[in-house]
Amino acid sequence: MQNIDSYDFSGKKALIRVDFNVPLNDQFQVTDNTRIKAAVPTIKKVLENGGSVILMSHLGRPKNGPEEKFSLRHILTETERLLDRPVQFAQDCIGSEAVEKAAALQPGDVLLLENLRFYPHETGGDISFSKQLASMGDVYINDAFGTAHRAHASTTIIAQFFPNDKMFGYLIEKEIESVSKVMDAGEHPITAIVGGAKVSSKIIIIENLLNKVDHLIIGGGMAYTFAKATGGQVGGSLVEEDYLETALGIMQQAKEKGVQILLPADTLAADAFSNDANTQSCNTKAIPEGWMGLDIAEKAIEETVQCILNSKTILWNGPMGVFEMDKFQKGTEAVAKAVAHATQQGAFTLVGGGDSVAAVNKFKLADQVSHVSTGGGAMLEYLEGKELPGIAAILN
Ligand code: AMP
Repeated sequence: MQNIDSYDFSGKKALIRVDFNVPLNDQFQVTDNTRIKAAVPTIKKVLENGGSVILMSHLGRPKNGPEEKFSLRHILTETERLLDRPVQFAQDCIGSEAVEKAAALQPGDVLLLENLRFYPHETGGDISFSKQLASMGDVYINDAFGTAHRAHASTTIIAQFFPNDKMFGYLIEKEIESVSKVMDAGEHPITAIVGGAKVSSKIIIIENLLNKVDHLIIGGGMAYTFAKATGGQVGGSLVEEDYLETALGIMQQAKEKGVQILLPADTLAADAFSNDANTQSCNTKAIPEGWMGLDIAEKAIEETVQCILNSKTILWNGPMGVFEMDKFQKGTEAVAKAVAHATQQGAFTLVGGGDSVAAVNKFKLADQVSHVSTGGGAMLEYLEGKELPGIAAILN
């Protein structure tokens, strides 16, 4: 398999699938350039190695063809600034203008193609659309982890046109390496912290993790389904009645596999789902009627932090409480800090999947953990143990 570090890009045109799906404001200005920044090392590597670059991305979810608000033209200036060089633009991702501009590229040049999703063929994985994209480049690089779980034209189908010239960019490489450091080669003790709203959306991940970890910390809304399943009174907390059996099954499996499950001993309960609610700490299994658990409380925080600090490998997915409200952020903040602290002590720490990423950002700790995943849904599926089509297309 080819690798971005060993490949000779000189004189080659590299088609790079990036994830430039960035937020824009009313004036179509980029309000968060994280994703563009993240692709820079891969782009620069090709350019510095004597190649030219054709960038392909989607932006938003256009429904019926081209739409001004989803034009990638809006991110051209920011891309030029971050790459520190001019970037050409093709107003259509396929067709004569794109083909001509691609053909004229010289080493060091960069061309950005218009939004791939202006064609339904992109998400439809259309083969002739993929072939038209492929015809513009000599080598294909996938560096868009956020869409790696989709078998789209530019993320998956296109790879077959580059049997010997396809590879991952640095960003995807790091994502794959990070998951593997936890799931395949994690140094023990390995701890997974799984929080968030519901058991139902995390069940496959939890079952997969039971084969890998020593400790599983359960927090967030899903803790109350476990608490109720094991005989607790949880008041008005979020409970998935259909998953009580599942929760018991997980406890049983954990026991058989020698995995310690840590449920929050106590809870910060509120009399309303509001930042102005009255609160009280109580045993997670004895929450009064009319009160709902919205965060973990002192004892649970202490046990959670202790477990994290004693671990060598840590995966964190999902917040411990409704951290979007300041009153209920303490548990999540403590976990974020503990994960950062463990990293400092030499642990490998991966924060992946949706809201825990938002949490480390909220507490400004993203640069203090080993890896923060860029792909929400993709990371979830990867942790579930599924084969991601975008990754398989490069490996196979
Ligand atoms: P998920 O996307 O499944 O990781 O869930 C994240 C969401 O779960 C966040 O928006 C949190 O506000 C929410 N959440 C966390 N803890 C609780 C809780 N105890 N009750 C209700 N929602 C919660």
